[in-house]
Amino acid sequence: MSDDDRSRPPIDVDAAIARLLDTVTPERPRTTIAVTDPDLLGHVLAEAIHADRDQPPFDRATMDGYALRFADLEAGRGLPVHGSISAGGARMAHVPTGRCVAIATGAAVPRALDTVVEHESTDRGDPLEVDSTGIREGRNIHRRGADATAGAVLVPAGTRIDAAVRAAAITGGAAVGRGLVPIQAPPRVAVVSTGDELRAPEDPLDGDGDDVRIRDSNRPMLVDLVSDRSTFGGRVVDSRHLVDEPSAIADGLDAAARDADVVLTVGGVSAGVLDLVPGHWAARGWTTLVRGVRMQPGRPFSAWCSPDGRTLAVGLPGNPVSAFACLHILMRPWFDAFRGIRKASPARSLPLQAATKANSSRPVFRPARLVTDVRGGVGVAIPRWRGSGDLVHLVGTTGLARLPVVDGEVPAGTPVEFHPYRDGSPTTAGEEGG
Ligand code: AMP
Ligand code: MG
Repeated sequence: MSDDDRSRPPIDVDAAIARLLDTVTPERPRTTIAVTDPDLLGHVLAEAIHADRDQPPFDRATMDGYALRFADLEAGRGLPVHGSISAGGARMAHVPTGRCVAIATGAAVPRALDTVVEHESTDRGDPLEVDSTGIREGRNIHRRGADATAGAVLVPAGTRIDAAVRAAAITGGAAVGRGLVPIQAPPRVAVVSTGDELRAPEDPLDGDGDDVRIRDSNRPMLVDLVSDRSTFGGRVVDSRHLVDEPSAIADGLDAAARDADVVLTVGGVSAGVLDLVPGHWAARGWTTLVRGVRMQPGRPFSAWCSPDGRTLAVGLPGNPVSAFACLHILMRPWFDAFRGIRKASPARSLPLQAATKANSSRPVFRPARLVTDVRGGVGVAIPRWRGSGDLVHLVGTTGLARLPVVDGEVPAGTPVEFHPYRDGSPTTAGEEGG
């Protein structure tokens, strides 16, 4: 099937994504990893992290100063200092009425006391004089259980683990006992490039006939993309190049599929005589899920499912930008679902910076980046490209802009979907203060 072949109607992007997602089973494999292991970062929590005790676990002073009874301030007399408490220092069980205690940030406020006055509002003397203007009962005390009570969910399942999540897990007691965090096993990925014209990345291409050969840039690109924990989060278990020859394709694809959850092939999936990938999966009895998608670039995108339903084979078009766009638009939801990520990266609707040519029958996905105009508004800028072989114009882009199906150009200012490569910090209305 060439990019223009109309013999078999391609399906819509959303339909293709849905067919791919259908192959993700609920019983996805899990494993555990030590909460202190540097490799924990970027994995996805398979179970919620619960607090093993109240957070904070005691009434905690939040300033260096003096703990006292608010009622004693009203009398206006100096308060003799009864002693001092440091962070981690033993609780003070008894404090006589009319006295105060020097206290450090992080120390446990004695139960009988209800207010902590910071040094700056006192004369630091003994007896202590306090400037009580504006001071209220309960000042500078972070109450036991104010953040979470024992048993509460600190971090929900499906959260990608970053430094904050690890710290919250440790706070919650995940480090106690065996110290293991349950994580989703990353999808095992085989990456296979196909094509007689491809040479290794380090090939100088100065040999006989090398003037019409090219370097295999897609395979390293796909390996980089799928193994990035902050986006696809796969584990590459196999990476190989195959020549366009039936037995090489057959042996290579069989081997690639052996230990993979997904086999990503690139190239060899169109309608040329040497496009051998579709025939291989058909010969092995794999079910065709997708054979052509209504998008530009990426129309030849195809997918198959193994007879036992456990392995997905994905045929990415060989053109570098097509492969890149298909992986992001069609496969990111599959990786997110396989990893059990709670929410997928949201596309944003933003105005197009300059008029751009569309396609009258398929949505167009163009590498783009976000720019800020003089008034601080964010818009989508699309670099010039010379077709889906133009890998160089990907450099510096941060997402794909989806142009609607229209004749001619999409005018400047038209809101278009922007699909970021990475999840940014989405701008939400009514953000919480801190
Ligand atoms: P194909 O889908 O195999 O017909 O390839 C489409 C175009 O992409 C051809 O110009 C190929 O040479 C090119 N191409 C295929 N695979 C790669 C690759 N791994 N790296 C760079 N270009 C490729
Ligand atoms: Mg090819």
